[in-house]
Amino acid sequence: MNALMQTYGRYDLAFERGEGAYLFATDGRRFLDFASGIAVNALGHSHPHLVKALIEQGQKLWHTSNLYRIPGQERLAERLVAATFADKAFFANSGVEAVECGLKLIRKYHDDFGDPNRYRVIAFEGSFHGRTMTALAAAGNEKYSKGYAPAVDGFDHCAFGNLNEVRAKIGPETAAILIEPVQGEGGMRAAQIEFIQGLRKVCDEFGLLLMFDEVQCGVGRTGKFFAHEWAGVAPDILATAKGIGGGFPLGVCLASERVAAAFQPGSHGTTFGGNPLAMAIGNAVLDVLLEDGFLARVNKVAAHLDRRLDELLRRFPGAFESKRGMGLMRGLKCASGVTNTDLVDKLRGLGLLTVSAGDNVLRLLPPLIVTNAEVDSAIDMLAAAAAEAKAA
Ligand code: PLP
Repeated sequence: MNALMQTYGRYDLAFERGEGAYLFATDGRRFLDFASGIAVNALGHSHPHLVKALIEQGQKLWHTSNLYRIPGQERLAERLVAATFADKAFFANSGVEAVECGLKLIRKYHDDFGDPNRYRVIAFEGSFHGRTMTALAAAGNEKYSKGYAPAVDGFDHCAFGNLNEVRAKIGPETAAILIEPVQGEGGMRAAQIEFIQGLRKVCDEFGLLLMFDEVQCGVGRTGKFFAHEWAGVAPDILATAKGIGGGFPLGVCLASERVAAAFQPGSHGTTFGGNPLAMAIGNAVLDVLLEDGFLARVNKVAAHLDRRLDELLRRFPGAFESKRGMGLMRGLKCASGVTNTDLVDKLRGLGLLTVSAGDNVLRLLPPLIVTNAEVDSAIDMLAAAAAEAKAA
């Protein structure tokens, strides 16, 4: 580990194998994985359909560059377009690249079709959009941006959920609004449906573009293909990643025809994005996720998890204050005196992998293929950790 840059405070734990909702450590221990590589392993570990796609494509062709047509890319784009609000897709390798594509598209759109002076984006307190300089500025969170001044210009911030503040911030230079429909890193906060609908109305009223960052909350995590579908409104641009590759690096920026028209050959690009290997796996993820009944099953197990979390809250008010999030993207706000990272450590000791989030929240991100029995087993470990935390 000494040769690695110290960007992570890593646990002294390594895995050698995964199967479904379980990870197996090099020392033989088995862990129930309610972290899913931070919402990445949507179909669990070693899903046979994904493994097959990886091997078959791996034996044929990995990379050709975007100088040529890539049939898997065209197919995945068509399928995403058919399943969403979007008309066009751009493929990248990560969440932040998908976000960056959307932010560039916002500026290019106004430059080409509207008013080039419009470049500012309204974003929200508690948000997270990735680690590039632009994404740090978009989130405006000291925790991630400290030491990297000066910030990239062009972002204004409002309280998450406050439509009056959004209206007050709009000026002649405002180009767009960027929001995570469910904030992940910031503390698993789901925006009110009325707030999302209000943002769409405000955007229409002022000629702004609406961009959703669904890098974490998209791809079935909330029980819909994309979280914003619960609000019944469409964005102009959407960035997603994580679950769409099922563990393989893959990011996507989706946009409506009108907005995507601002990109012409040369406007934007990537060497690796949309390579045949990533596309084969992305298509395999969609085979499973869009299968009849898959999301209905996610909603069923999510309802079970919800009931079990309510029980946990009733039993351990000294450990947990409230529940947050939606679907299989859940958070438990820890009670005062209880620290989320201590709970993550305790749970890992018991055999359950979880993640901390901002605002002293314990994050639960099981794979979408999790069963009720696995949820019950996680709840038993959460109860054991909560009992200890309360007693401490
Ligand atoms: N946007 C959101 C909402 C995220 O949760 C993340 C990562 O956690 C990102 C963007 C950045 O994604 P990546 O780490 O793949 O660049």
